[in-house]
Amino acid sequence: MAKYQTVMLDGSELSVKKAAAFINAGEVVGMPTETVYGLAADAFNEEAVAKIFAAKERPADNPLIVHISDLTMITGIAAELPQLAVTCAKRFWPGPLTMVLPKTPNVPFITSGGLDTVGVRMPSHPVARALIDAAGVPLAAPSANLSGSPSPTCAAHVLKDMNGRIPAIIDGGECDAGVESTVICFEEDGGSGKSAIKILRPGRITAQMLSEVTPHVLIDKGVLNAVENGAKVASPGMKYKHYAPKAKVTLVDGTAELFAEYVKAHAGQGTVCLVFRDTDIKGLPCIVIGDTAEEQAHRLFAALREADSMGAAEVFARCPTTDGVGLAVYNRLIRAAAFRVVKL
Ligand code: AMP
Ligand code: MG
Repeated sequence: MAKYQTVMLDGSELSVKKAAAFINAGEVVGMPTETVYGLAADAFNEEAVAKIFAAKERPADNPLIVHISDLTMITGIAAELPQLAVTCAKRFWPGPLTMVLPKTPNVPFITSGGLDTVGVRMPSHPVARALIDAAGVPLAAPSANLSGSPSPTCAAHVLKDMNGRIPAIIDGGECDAGVESTVICFEEDGGSGKSAIKILRPGRITAQMLSEVTPHVLIDKGVLNAVENGAKVASPGMKYKHYAPKAKVTLVDGTAELFAEYVKAHAGQGTVCLVFRDTDIKGLPCIVIGDTAEEQAHRLFAALREADSMGAAEVFARCPTTDGVGLAVYNRLIRAAAFRVVKL
């Protein structure tokens, strides 16, 4: 699908202007954000948004997140703003939080994946914000990977997946968070009549952080579980194969000692281990993702891509905790592993 000579731009003002000119001409640009790289186009331009779906080979019912740089932009996008949404915006924006809200007719259905709602986020990355400002329109931007592959956390990953598919990528260095934004919606908490925040996709903004805004924080069951075939889901992205390297990934849940014992008994040619520390296992090729949930989030997708470049046939990954940002790491890894978990 080599349609473009993809150029790599730096994060300078001049480059951002060039990228904005592509956006205003109805094209798609790779942009850095504080979570992962995005594939950005004018959220109101149906033809431009169609190019995002084509470049990613993304299913049409998987909605895109609309990125804004200023709160005043939200009025053209969201038809209603519940009080809790205003509180969350004040507290967490700019930052890695996406709020699902009723959409205005301005937002084309191609952007919202056919839904009456739209996910809105105000990123904190200075280059993403400068690009939205320079383009003068909200940007629809999913992660800049081919559909199903690990999300890109540096410009080289975007180039690997998108070379020839888009005209330009802005290189803003390595992404800070490394996992995509926390996606939330608002609903009634049981029959209590109280409005609640429901986490549809975990990220850097954790359940604990959201519970400082309201005690009513729910976690959608799709966060930890596989979605059954044909089931209606709150967040359509959850039903698709995700984040997967070419290798078969298995999560192995146990202490470092038990992990090492299990992997040694099951390793074959092409086995690679995804571990927290380089002391976790000896004598097998390893990729270290770090001890803390924040480090693990930062390195996870690069590690899954590295497994591919090592030619791994099989990856045994240590199972992260589900506390704090760990829930986001676990949510991505369990999908990369197609829900294969060995409990020791
Ligand atoms: P990505 O663009 O790759 O970060 O994926 C965006 C995620 O946000 C997907 O998992 C979508 O299902 C979710 N999302 C975006 N818009 C909505 C919406 N209107 N309702 C529910 N989930 C949404
Ligand atoms: Mg994605």
